[in-house]
Amino acid sequence: MNSSEGSTAGILGGTFNPIHVGHLIIAEEIRIKCNLRKILFIPSAYPPHKGIREVAPARLRWEMVCLAIQDNPHFQASAIEIEREGLSYTVDTLTQLRDLWGQKVQIYLIIGADEAIDVSTWKEPDRVFALCTVLVASRPGFDLQAIDSGWRRKMKLVTVPQIEISSTAIRRRVKEGKEIRYLVPQPVEKFIHEKKLYLNK
Ligand code: ATP
Ligand code: MG
Repeated sequence: MNSSEGSTAGILGGTFNPIHVGHLIIAEEIRIKCNLRKILFIPSAYPPHKGIREVAPARLRWEMVCLAIQDNPHFQASAIEIEREGLSYTVDTLTQLRDLWGQKVQIYLIIGADEAIDVSTWKEPDRVFALCTVLVASRPGFDLQAIDSGWRRKMKLVTVPQIEISSTAIRRRVKEGKEIRYLVPQPVEKFIHEKKLYLNK
Protein backbone atom coordinates (compact mmCIF):
# COMPACT_ATOMS: atom_id res chain seq x y z
CA MET A 1 0.00 0.00 0.00
CA ASN A 2 1.53 3.36 -0.87
CA SER A 3 0.90 6.68 0.81
CA SER A 4 -1.18 8.11 -2.03
CA GLU A 5 -4.06 5.69 -1.53
CA GLY A 6 -5.95 7.53 1.24
CA SER A 7 -7.31 4.46 2.86
CA THR A 8 -8.00 2.32 5.91
CA ALA A 9 -5.93 -0.60 7.10
CA GLY A 10 -6.48 -3.05 9.91
CA ILE A 11 -3.42 -4.46 11.63
CA LEU A 12 -3.51 -7.85 13.31
CA GLY A 13 -0.26 -8.65 15.08
CA GLY A 14 0.47 -11.88 16.85
CA THR A 15 2.83 -14.73 17.41
CA PHE A 16 0.69 -16.83 15.05
CA ASN A 17 2.21 -19.98 16.52
CA PRO A 18 0.31 -21.17 14.51
CA ILE A 19 -2.27 -18.92 12.78
CA HIS A 20 -5.76 -20.43 13.21
CA VAL A 21 -9.30 -19.88 11.96
CA GLY A 22 -10.10 -17.66 14.98
CA HIS A 23 -7.63 -15.08 13.64
CA LEU A 24 -9.09 -15.30 10.13
CA ILE A 25 -12.72 -15.10 11.22
CA ILE A 26 -12.24 -12.06 13.47
CA ALA A 27 -10.11 -10.31 10.84
CA GLU A 28 -12.70 -10.81 8.11
CA GLU A 29 -15.60 -9.89 10.40
CA ILE A 30 -13.91 -6.67 11.50
CA ARG A 31 -12.82 -5.83 7.97
CA ILE A 32 -16.42 -5.95 6.80
CA LYS A 33 -18.02 -4.43 9.91
CA CYS A 34 -15.58 -1.52 10.10
CA ASN A 35 -15.29 -1.12 6.34
CA LEU A 36 -11.52 -1.57 6.26
CA ARG A 37 -9.82 -1.77 2.93
CA LYS A 38 -7.36 -4.45 3.98
CA ILE A 39 -5.97 -6.35 6.90
CA LEU A 40 -2.26 -6.70 7.47
CA PHE A 41 -1.18 -9.77 9.43
CA ILE A 42 2.08 -9.06 11.23
CA PRO A 43 3.87 -12.02 12.78
CA SER A 44 6.14 -10.99 15.64
CA ALA A 45 9.87 -11.65 15.47
CA TYR A 46 11.30 -14.79 17.01
CA PRO A 47 11.68 -13.76 20.64
CA PRO A 48 15.42 -14.01 21.34
CA HIS A 49 14.85 -15.05 24.95
CA LYS A 50 12.54 -17.92 24.09
CA GLY A 51 13.71 -21.35 23.01
CA ILE A 52 12.69 -23.13 19.82
CA ARG A 53 10.54 -25.41 21.98
CA GLU A 54 8.32 -22.48 22.94
CA VAL A 55 7.91 -20.55 19.70
CA ALA A 56 8.40 -21.85 16.16
CA PRO A 57 10.99 -19.83 14.20
CA ALA A 58 9.66 -16.67 12.59
CA ARG A 59 10.25 -18.01 9.07
CA LEU A 60 7.91 -20.96 9.69
CA ARG A 61 5.23 -18.82 11.38
CA TRP A 62 5.48 -16.39 8.46
CA GLU A 63 4.99 -19.20 5.93
CA MET A 64 1.90 -20.42 7.79
CA VAL A 65 0.42 -16.91 7.77
CA CYS A 66 1.02 -16.66 4.00
CA LEU A 67 -0.61 -20.06 3.41
CA ALA A 68 -3.60 -19.12 5.56
CA ILE A 69 -4.39 -15.82 3.87
CA GLN A 70 -3.48 -16.62 0.28
CA ASP A 71 -7.05 -16.86 -1.01
CA ASN A 72 -8.33 -13.58 0.50
CA PRO A 73 -7.45 -10.55 -1.64
CA HIS A 74 -8.10 -8.22 1.33
CA PHE A 75 -5.51 -9.93 3.53
CA GLN A 76 -1.76 -9.26 3.39
CA ALA A 77 1.21 -10.42 5.43
CA SER A 78 3.85 -7.97 6.57
CA ALA A 79 7.38 -8.97 7.61
CA ILE A 80 7.96 -5.61 9.28
CA GLU A 81 8.51 -7.09 12.77
CA ILE A 82 10.46 -10.10 11.55
CA GLU A 83 12.83 -7.83 9.62
CA ARG A 84 13.28 -5.55 12.63
CA GLU A 85 14.15 -8.55 14.84
CA GLY A 86 14.37 -8.34 18.61
CA LEU A 87 11.29 -7.78 20.74
CA SER A 88 8.29 -6.68 18.72
CA TYR A 89 6.69 -3.61 20.26
CA THR A 90 3.42 -2.50 18.72
CA VAL A 91 4.31 1.19 19.12
CA ASP A 92 7.44 0.70 16.99
CA THR A 93 5.49 -1.11 14.28
CA LEU A 94 2.80 1.57 14.19
CA THR A 95 5.42 4.33 14.01
CA GLN A 96 7.14 2.55 11.13
CA LEU A 97 3.85 2.08 9.26
CA ARG A 98 2.87 5.72 9.85
CA ASP A 99 6.22 6.83 8.39
CA LEU A 100 5.74 4.53 5.43
CA TRP A 101 2.11 5.40 4.69
CA GLY A 102 1.93 9.00 5.84
CA GLN A 103 -1.27 10.48 7.30
CA LYS A 104 -3.59 9.35 4.52
CA VAL A 105 -4.02 5.83 5.81
CA GLN A 106 -6.19 5.44 8.89
CA ILE A 107 -4.74 2.62 10.96
CA TYR A 108 -6.94 0.27 13.03
CA LEU A 109 -5.14 -1.99 15.46
CA ILE A 110 -7.09 -5.20 16.08
CA ILE A 111 -6.55 -6.99 19.37
CA GLY A 112 -8.40 -9.73 21.21
CA ALA A 113 -9.95 -9.09 24.63
CA ASP A 114 -7.08 -10.97 26.33
CA GLU A 115 -4.55 -8.50 24.91
CA ALA A 116 -6.76 -5.53 25.77
CA ILE A 117 -6.67 -6.46 29.44
CA ASP A 118 -2.87 -6.03 29.35
CA VAL A 119 -2.72 -2.56 27.81
CA SER A 120 -1.02 -0.99 30.81
CA THR A 121 1.96 -3.32 30.30
CA TRP A 122 2.51 -2.16 26.69
CA LYS A 123 5.40 0.05 25.71
CA GLU A 124 4.08 3.65 25.40
CA PRO A 125 0.35 2.86 25.32
CA ASP A 126 -0.57 6.53 24.96
CA ARG A 127 1.41 6.77 21.77
CA VAL A 128 -0.23 3.61 20.47
CA PHE A 129 -3.65 5.24 20.96
CA ALA A 130 -2.42 8.41 19.27
CA LEU A 131 -1.18 6.49 16.24
CA CYS A 132 -4.26 4.38 15.58
CA THR A 133 -7.78 3.39 16.55
CA VAL A 134 -7.70 0.34 18.79
CA LEU A 135 -10.41 -2.22 17.97
CA VAL A 136 -11.04 -4.92 20.53
CA ALA A 137 -12.51 -8.25 19.45
CA SER A 138 -14.45 -10.13 22.09
CA ARG A 139 -12.95 -13.52 22.92
CA PRO A 140 -14.47 -16.43 24.87
CA GLY A 141 -13.11 -16.62 28.41
CA PHE A 142 -12.03 -12.99 28.57
CA ASP A 143 -14.31 -10.45 30.17
CA LEU A 144 -14.38 -7.04 28.48
CA GLN A 145 -15.21 -5.61 31.91
CA ALA A 146 -11.73 -6.65 33.05
CA ILE A 147 -10.21 -3.99 30.81
CA ASP A 148 -9.17 -0.92 32.77
CA SER A 149 -12.03 1.57 32.31
CA GLY A 150 -9.69 4.42 31.40
CA TRP A 151 -8.21 2.49 28.50
CA ARG A 152 -11.55 0.94 27.59
CA ARG A 153 -13.03 4.36 26.92
CA LYS A 154 -10.39 4.88 24.23
CA MET A 155 -11.06 1.53 22.55
CA LYS A 156 -13.75 0.51 20.13
CA LEU A 157 -15.26 -2.79 21.21
CA VAL A 158 -16.35 -4.97 18.30
CA THR A 159 -18.62 -7.95 18.74
CA VAL A 160 -17.37 -10.83 16.63
CA PRO A 161 -18.34 -14.52 16.43
CA GLN A 162 -17.07 -16.22 19.57
CA ILE A 163 -14.39 -18.65 18.48
CA GLU A 164 -12.99 -20.70 21.29
CA ILE A 165 -9.72 -21.60 19.58
CA SER A 166 -6.18 -20.66 20.58
CA SER A 167 -2.73 -21.44 19.21
CA THR A 168 -1.90 -22.92 22.61
CA ALA A 169 -4.75 -25.43 22.29
CA ILE A 170 -3.67 -26.31 18.74
CA ARG A 171 -0.06 -26.93 19.81
CA ARG A 172 -1.34 -29.11 22.64
CA ARG A 173 -3.54 -31.12 20.29
CA VAL A 174 -0.65 -31.74 17.89
CA LYS A 175 1.53 -32.90 20.74
CA GLU A 176 -1.20 -35.25 21.94
CA GLY A 177 -1.63 -36.67 18.42
CA LYS A 178 -5.14 -35.21 18.04
CA GLU A 179 -6.67 -33.87 14.83
CA ILE A 180 -6.46 -30.14 14.09
CA ARG A 181 -8.65 -30.35 11.00
CA TYR A 182 -10.87 -27.25 10.61
CA LEU A 183 -9.05 -25.44 13.42
CA VAL A 184 -6.44 -24.19 10.96
CA PRO A 185 -6.75 -23.84 7.17
CA GLN A 186 -5.95 -27.08 5.35
CA PRO A 187 -2.57 -25.91 3.88
CA VAL A 188 -1.48 -24.86 7.39
CA GLU A 189 -2.45 -28.26 8.79
CA LYS A 190 -0.39 -29.92 6.04
CA PHE A 191 2.58 -27.61 6.72
CA ILE A 192 2.51 -28.36 10.48
CA HIS A 193 2.61 -32.09 9.83
CA GLU A 194 5.24 -31.89 7.07
CA LYS A 195 7.59 -29.76 9.19
CA LYS A 196 6.83 -31.86 12.27
CA LEU A 197 5.97 -28.76 14.27
CA TYR A 198 4.70 -28.79 17.86
CA LEU A 199 5.45 -32.46 18.50
CA ASN A 200 7.49 -31.64 21.62
CA LYS A 201 5.45 -28.85 23.18
P1 ATP B 1 -1.44 -18.24 22.05
O1 ATP B 1 -2.38 -19.23 22.68
O2 ATP B 1 -0.13 -18.85 21.62
O3 ATP B 1 -1.28 -16.95 22.83
P2 ATP B 1 -3.46 -17.02 20.37
O4 ATP B 1 -4.52 -17.95 19.89
O5 ATP B 1 -3.79 -16.09 21.50
O6 ATP B 1 -2.13 -17.85 20.65
P3 ATP B 1 -1.96 -14.90 19.15
O7 ATP B 1 -1.05 -15.05 17.99
O8 ATP B 1 -1.41 -14.74 20.51
O9 ATP B 1 -2.96 -16.19 19.12
O10 ATP B 1 -3.05 -13.77 18.89
C1 ATP B 1 -2.90 -12.68 18.02
C2 ATP B 1 -4.09 -11.75 18.25
O11 ATP B 1 -5.32 -12.38 17.90
C3 ATP B 1 -4.24 -11.32 19.72
O12 ATP B 1 -4.65 -9.95 19.75
C4 ATP B 1 -5.34 -12.23 20.24
O13 ATP B 1 -6.04 -11.64 21.31
C5 ATP B 1 -6.22 -12.37 19.01
N1 ATP B 1 -6.94 -13.65 19.00
C6 ATP B 1 -6.41 -14.88 18.82
N2 ATP B 1 -7.35 -15.83 18.84
C7 ATP B 1 -8.53 -15.20 19.03
C8 ATP B 1 -9.90 -15.65 19.16
N3 ATP B 1 -10.20 -16.95 19.10
N4 ATP B 1 -10.85 -14.70 19.34
C9 ATP B 1 -10.53 -13.38 19.43
N5 ATP B 1 -9.27 -12.89 19.31
C10 ATP B 1 -8.28 -13.79 19.12
MG1 MG C 1 -2.23 -15.08 22.54
